[in-house]
Amino acid sequence: MALNLFNTLTRTIQPFEPIEKDGKNVGLYCCGPTVYDYAHIGNWRTFVFADLVRRALQFQGFTVRHVMNITDVEDKIIQRAQERQVSLESFTRSYEQAFLEDLQCLNCLKPHQTPRATDHIAEIIGMIQQLIQRGFAYRTPDGSVWFSIHKYAAAGHQYGRLLPIQLDELRVGERVATDEYAKEAASDFALWKARVTSDGPIFWPSPFGEGRPGWHIECSAMSVKALGTTFDLHLGGEDLKFPHHEDEIAQSEGATGRPFARFWLHGAHLLVEGKKMSKSLGNFFTLRDLLARGFSGREVRCLLLTAHYRETFNFTLDGLHAARSSLSRLDECLDKLKAAASPQAPAISSTTHAASVELLKTFEEAICDDLNISAAWAAVFQWVSAINRQAATAELNPAEASVALAAWQRVDSVLGMGSRPTASVPPEIMALAQERTEAKKNRDFKRADALRAQLKALGWVIEDTSDGIKLKKSEP
Ligand code: AMP
Ligand code: ZN
Repeated sequence: MALNLFNTLTRTIQPFEPIEKDGKNVGLYCCGPTVYDYAHIGNWRTFVFADLVRRALQFQGFTVRHVMNITDVEDKIIQRAQERQVSLESFTRSYEQAFLEDLQCLNCLKPHQTPRATDHIAEIIGMIQQLIQRGFAYRTPDGSVWFSIHKYAAAGHQYGRLLPIQLDELRVGERVATDEYAKEAASDFALWKARVTSDGPIFWPSPFGEGRPGWHIECSAMSVKALGTTFDLHLGGEDLKFPHHEDEIAQSEGATGRPFARFWLHGAHLLVEGKKMSKSLGNFFTLRDLLARGFSGREVRCLLLTAHYRETFNFTLDGLHAARSSLSRLDECLDKLKAAASPQAPAISSTTHAASVELLKTFEEAICDDLNISAAWAAVFQWVSAINRQAATAELNPAEASVALAAWQRVDSVLGMGSRPTASVPPEIMALAQERTEAKKNRDFKRADALRAQLKALGWVIEDTSDGIKLKKSEP
């Protein structure tokens, strides 16, 4: 089944085909974090979306090479490192490390390569030189280098491939020095920024003079180096369409003379409680803030994967509680299957299980329909209901349970929910639970109830099951 994806370049849903004819190898580049702070929950929506795209491609049999850069030099980073009077390296490395830990906590597959901009200054300079040679870039007396949109357009290239841009002829030669600017300010942008006093010790030597790269050229140089001049997919949040991605296309195609990425996928933004996230509104969450409130990375991932990637998503703490309930429903079903499954799994290859056949079919259709994640989850919960019904009537045989678990593994290779983390029970809690079991044995129900209440006050819920007691942490 073809994987259909919305390509921002063509504004249509297209079946994904790799560049390699009849091939299985796919190159995917996602713009990575700017490491000047902990990544927030909006950033995580985009990185979990990139992980979903990679997993969906793998599910469809492609071998993906996933590259995600680390932006470790740009305007905001320099400003903060200077304010704190620390070196660029010591400032950015701790956030880079935290980012990679958080990525793992959200069960995102680690990209195969995470190149840093500061390790690619030579490649960046090389690309700027190519642009100068081809007549698309020019130097100014201060030692900066600029991309000329006018020259690029005059050579027959289109600037404004991802968004329509009205090129105002009056703007010819106007320049924008900052990395971020509005569409209305589209004009020549900086490839190399000459050293200024406010940059402090952050500069590199170059044939144009001392300075540092602009943000946009960093991604062009790193993606082309890692994946070649033309590669399959380029991803990022929707705010990056302009100017970042538009400039990446212009720089890369201008320098190499070859088409750049074939598919451009953009994830819509995340709001918190219906509002743009901001520290001043008190609705700004990093992953670490949510972990401190007692939620797990698995619950956060589950919530981030509930809405379609092209729809704005409203993140709420209630939504996180709902994700927790959905996961416990799923986990209880998986527990039943594990308890019923045949230990001789290989002997069951001739067995089928109707609900699991249906799950695999509808799940694949949903994913191939431009990653229709809500339809994918609906297929999962229909399967959960079917299994629960079967288990209630004791019709679930070991071979079927094993087949159902294998189907879930395949589905979970895309969703990445993994297994429920086993909360380790502290010894004092275990001792209270055992005391309660003893009290019940001795028919001292008053004492047993008092111990249950004591456990509850300590944040633990005790359940009596046919396999003995189960201890669960109560909701925060
Ligand atoms: P940054 O670290 O600022 O370069 O951003 C990393 C990624 O997060 C980029 O792909 C952004 O487009 C994306 N991003 C930033 N804010 C949000 C948001 N509120 N919702 C979704 N993605 C976002
Ligand atoms: Zn980028």
